[in-house]
Amino acid sequence: MAIVKVEKVSKRYPLGEQVVEALRDVSLEIEPGSFLAIAGPSGSGKSTLLNIIGCIDNPSAGRVFIDGHDVSGKTPDQLADVRARTLGFIFQNFNLLPVLSARENVDYPLLQLPELTRAERRERVAHYLEVVGLTRYASHRPNQLSGGQRQRVAIARALATHSRVVLADEPTANLDRETGRSILELMQNINRTAGTTFIFSTHDQHVMTMADRLVHMEDGRIRALETNAAELAGAAQ
Ligand code: ADP
Repeated sequence: MAIVKVEKVSKRYPLGEQVVEALRDVSLEIEPGSFLAIAGPSGSGKSTLLNIIGCIDNPSAGRVFIDGHDVSGKTPDQLADVRARTLGFIFQNFNLLPVLSARENVDYPLLQLPELTRAERRERVAHYLEVVGLTRYASHRPNQLSGGQRQRVAIARALATHSRVVLADEPTANLDRETGRSILELMQNINRTAGTTFIFSTHDQHVMTMADRLVHMEDGRIRALETNAAELAGAAQ
């Protein structure tokens, strides 16, 4: 079963007298364990699609299923639990809380999971900081970390809730090419070892080539779907 299913989704934003059609009749099925990139020029609808999959925004028409649950038409409050347990988010500007240390930033979403004891939270935080290679930096605040390290904290935070799907809106846009590549490699590694589904938007050609599936968007529509056979072969090894 698809972990994410988008069915004939449209999104219209009123803009003064006009209406912007950010998404037009978009349908997409994403299998668990995918490493999928959404590519397209600025304004093509990438963020809108990610926000709708992430239950941050509602479609104007159509339906969205996350892990088999129809999430369309529900408010973010109603969906808080689905989001807290199924979905993780990574943003281009990292969105870390500046007054909290790396450790506290990763712990923060775990406070929404009351079944976890303090000891379990501490263990999870330590584990995911290790996964992203930041154990030594656990006490550092975001302004004491480089851009790449901040994005690693954000990845640990997205994974700590045991998210099945991580959504990343242009995760490398504010990083230099080399750092961006290492962030993508880390995401890819987690995808292949833990099976976490990653859905990320990008307009960077290098980033696109690392995806095993590529969705090209243009003017609110899916223009093409590509499967990267080389990546899939790599993943199967
Ligand atoms: P991308 O992520 O590919 O740059 P977006 O999804 O951000 O594209 O935007 C798609 C279209 O929807 C653009 O024309 C954008 O201006 C418009 N849009 C996005 N969000 C809003 C909003 N909140 N209000 C009005 N128009 C919006």
